Amino acid sequence: MTEMIDPFGRMVSYLRVSVTDRCDFRCVYCMSEDMTFLPKTDVLSLEELDRLCSAFIRKGVKKLRLTGGEPLVRRNIMSLFRDLGRHLETGALEELTLTTNGSQLSRFASELVSCGVRRINVSLDTLDADKFHKITRWGKLDKVMGGLKAAQDAGLQIKLNAVAVRGFNDMELDDMLGWCGEQEFDLTLIETMPLGEIDEVRADQYLPLSEVRENLSKNWTLTDIPYKTGGPARYVNVEETGRKLGFITPMTHNFCESCNRVRLTCTGTLYMCLGQDDAADLRQPLRASEADELLNAAIDEAIGRKPKGHDFIIDRTNNTPATTRHMSVTGG
Ligand code: SAM
Repeated sequence: MTEMIDPFGRMVSYLRVSVTDRCDFRCVYCMSEDMTFLPKTDVLSLEELDRLCSAFIRKGVKKLRLTGGEPLVRRNIMSLFRDLGRHLETGALEELTLTTNGSQLSRFASELVSCGVRRINVSLDTLDADKFHKITRWGKLDKVMGGLKAAQDAGLQIKLNAVAVRGFNDMELDDMLGWCGEQEFDLTLIETMPLGEIDEVRADQYLPLSEVRENLSKNWTLTDIPYKTGGPARYVNVEETGRKLGFITPMTHNFCESCNRVRLTCTGTLYMCLGQDDAADLRQPLRASEADELLNAAIDEAIGRKPKGHDFIIDRTNNTPATTRHMSVTGG
């Protein structure tokens, strides 16, 4: 089985799979309030997703992240986690993980552990219940807090992801860093990316993390460290808490040169770059044959087209997104 090496010599070893485009939140930087979702008939079955993921694992994927939409709102999603867990047992897969908004974690935390999940990313942009409701439009903070507690009790390692939004959480990031220290969570901050039409102006939301780091440095001792999780974050150690703080900076510092990822949607469309529209349809070759030859050939052809990187721009003269699809389609 050939490994997946792109035209720039980067080996693809990380697959992110958006198992549904549906979500129980409507975060203002992610979706518009009035979203049209995919008809259920377009969505791959969990068995088909398992077959696709397994094909990628045979081609060298070592790290698999399920995302969405909200992965934990897909019906019977635990059966996919459980099936994929077999690749951890054989050692073919090194890590199975997920990105979640935490709303369903109280129900699923222990089961995730029994499927082999050890680390999870939970997205949380504020610790203030009113502001949380405002940014998610539909979310309830106490439900997420309950989910975090359940995940901790189940023994999951937790990293919080927060999108830095100007005028919304910039004044709160110091407190969040302190709180994460107390809870023994790492924290990663993310710059907002121009993906999909939203109801607000991106330039108003955009907060460069170079600015955030400068402000945080006034109160915390931040030291660069070479720590890597396979994703795009660059980490510092926070001396006062002993925890790590990550920065994902698609806008101020392009990280594409070390990109090892591709993204699969719940319809079987493979995006070779989060910020580009070029894609490959894997559903057709998947369904065309029970053997995987056609599928493998389609994957190889797609990897041969992986672009060098994204070209994101957010400024006042340009409110057009880099892609028409929202982050909820490709997953984070
Ligand atoms: N529902 C899950 C969650 O909330 O984590 C998984 C999907 S969500 C699309 C994945 C991550 O993408 C979240 O951390 C979210 O905050 C982030 N995100 C969504 N839209 C974004 C954007 N335009 N720019 C940067 N991050 C974004």
